[in-house]
Amino acid sequence: MGVEEALERGEIPLYKLDELLGSSVKATELRRRFLEKRLGKDLSALKSDLPFDQIVGRNCENTIGAVSIPVGVAGPIRVEGSYARGEYYIPLATTEGALVASVNRGCAAVRESGGALTAVLADAMTRAPVFETPSVRHSVALAEWVKREQQTLKASFSETTRHGEMIDLKPFVAGRYVFLRLEAKTGDAMGMNMVTRGAENVANKIVESNPWARHLALSGNLCTDKKAAAINWVLGRGKTVTAEVTIPQKIIEEKLKTTPEAMEKVALTKLYLGSARAGVLGGFNAHAANIIAAVFLATGQDAAQVVESSLCLTMVEALEDGVYVSVTLPSLEVGTVGGGTWLPAQRTALELMGVSGAGDPPGTNALKMAEIVAATVLAGEVSLIAALAAHHLAKAHVRLGRGGGSKG
Ligand code: NAP
Repeated sequence: MGVEEALERGEIPLYKLDELLGSSVKATELRRRFLEKRLGKDLSALKSDLPFDQIVGRNCENTIGAVSIPVGVAGPIRVEGSYARGEYYIPLATTEGALVASVNRGCAAVRESGGALTAVLADAMTRAPVFETPSVRHSVALAEWVKREQQTLKASFSETTRHGEMIDLKPFVAGRYVFLRLEAKTGDAMGMNMVTRGAENVANKIVESNPWARHLALSGNLCTDKKAAAINWVLGRGKTVTAEVTIPQKIIEEKLKTTPEAMEKVALTKLYLGSARAGVLGGFNAHAANIIAAVFLATGQDAAQVVESSLCLTMVEALEDGVYVSVTLPSLEVGTVGGGTWLPAQRTALELMGVSGAGDPPGTNALKMAEIVAATVLAGEVSLIAALAAHHLAKAHVRLGRGGGSKG
């Protein structure tokens, strides 16, 4: 009996096909055909010539094809940073009409104002294993031991990676439980797999030297990965990055069709008062998530990390002859190697931005990308706040997105 018949008789699960056929390309086709027959639906639009033999075991399991997302380009944006210096185009993958046009307008305003000044304030990916101890006294003893033995634990971390480097291990005690927030530099990788592997080695070392401590889980949520959390807002995660621009009055009037005062008023009422009244966590911005999500999808970042990567504080101040705007993103998690960054289209999108692959020295490409992304968020904020101030938002969405969209 062939594999196809066995599949139809329910004798083998869909996920076994790669192994049985010795090819994930064939398995992908067969899974889709099986579902078409079973569901009586045409799934041919999911067909894709992606290299599934390399994808399965690395990026996705039980593959049945791919979904393509339109990619628009914004820019160039001018960035004056420590790692990004010059003009950059930004690929944005989105189905939200008006988004690319809006960011593009912001990029022009920033460029014509002399560019965005950017800086990376911190660089550390985190993982926080949790331990159980016999008592509060033991928890305190464990926290103290960890502080004393940082060098030993750093060495344990380094055994697992060439590019990763543990820089801190912060203990948080809750009764007889101890959470250790491990912070590490991860080179050009976003770093989650890297820190997870390293954290496991560190956790093993801790238990070896403190046998009364029980390692409960490699992630105790104080990391915090893929959840809205104040700890990322305050301490940062991934890259902590900031960007600013001063836009002259003439550009505000001619390009953005509004005034510094109107932009400041929108910022005061929407970004601070509105967000405060709504109890928003780390969302004192207009639409940072729009830019983060679109760049993440285009460049093979981990899409679920849009949650913390789009935490953003936007500042708008009217000046005598212009407006000052800044954005601060405490938890921007980006990488130019690893994860989905090797996929053909995603890698091409990174190349378009000028940040594909490993940096020289290692780590500088991811830092450069963080600065470009922060500058692009700044452009997005400028454009949307100006559109709101000029009462252009609904009109733009009707014209470019038929009234749909989620901005604001
Ligand atoms: P990765 O692909 O697992 O690791 C990066 C690899 O690239 C390492 O093998 C590293 O080697 C190597 N490398 C080569 N040149 C490098 C350079 N210049 N800088 C840094 N590394 C370099 O990627 P990752 O960023 O650690 O993990 C990303 C993946 O983790 C994504 O697919 C994401 O979806 C997933 N993820 C995992 C978890 C988890 O808990 N495990 C959670 C969230 C997301 P060395 O290590 O030897 O330096």
